[in-house]
Amino acid sequence: MNHSIHHVDAKRGFVFLLVAILVAIGLRQADSQDAVTAESVAEAADAGGANADASAAIESDSEADEIDDPPYTPKTVSQLQKALSPIQFKVTQNEETEPAFRNKYWDNKKEGLYRCIVCGQSLFTSETKFKSGTGWPSFYDPISKDRIGMKLDFRLIYPRQEVHCSRCEAHLGHVFNDGPQDKTGKRYCLNSAALRFEEASEKSTSAKDKKR
Ligand SMILES: [Zn+2]
Repeated sequence: MNHSIHHVDAKRGFVFLLVAILVAIGLRQADSQDAVTAESVAEAADAGGANADASAAIESDSEADEIDDPPYTPKTVSQLQKALSPIQFKVTQNEETEPAFRNKYWDNKKEGLYRCIVCGQSLFTSETKFKSGTGWPSFYDPISKDRIGMKLDFRLIYPRQEVHCSRCEAHLGHVFNDGPQDKTGKRYCLNSAALRFEEASEKSTSAKDKKR
C-alpha cells in the first residue's frame, strides 16, 4: 500500500518536473522571440522602413493636434443648465437619449467637425460618419481614441458600451460592434444634442473639390 503511494508521489514529482522544464523552455523561447522582434525592428529602422511608419504615426497624431480645442473650465450644474438647452442637458448630464430622426445631425452630410457641446473638444469628423439607418448620427471612428471615454451601461436588459467626452465626461451615446466591416466594425451611435457641428471652411472644401 505504502509502496504504491510512494510510486504515485514519484510519478507526480516527475510530471511536475516535466511541466516545470516545459514552462522554462517556453519562457526562454518567448524571451528569444522578443529579442528577435526587437532586433528585426532595429534592422528595419536602419533600413528606413520603420522610420517611415513612425513618422506616419506622428503625422496622423499631429493632424488631431492641429485642431484647436477651446480651453476647458469645468462648469457647475447651474452653469450647465444655463448654457445648455433642456435636451442637451438631459443627454449630456443624465445620459438620456434623444428621439431618433428628430435630431439635428442624423442626416447631416456636410463636411466638418463634431465637437462636444459642453466643452468644445473635437471628437469626430464627417470623414468617419456613415449612414446607419438608425436615425442618430453614426460614426465608425473618433478623431483619436483619447478624445472619448467608455463605461459599461446596464440601463437596458443587455449591457451597452457607453461613450462620453474624455475631457468633461459629457455623455455622447453608445458604441456597438455592427459598424462597417470594411472600416473599424464599430458604430458610435451618438446624440446630436451632445454635439456641435463646425462646418469645414470653404477654403478647405474647395481644395478638396479640386483634388477630385
Ligand atoms: Zn466635453
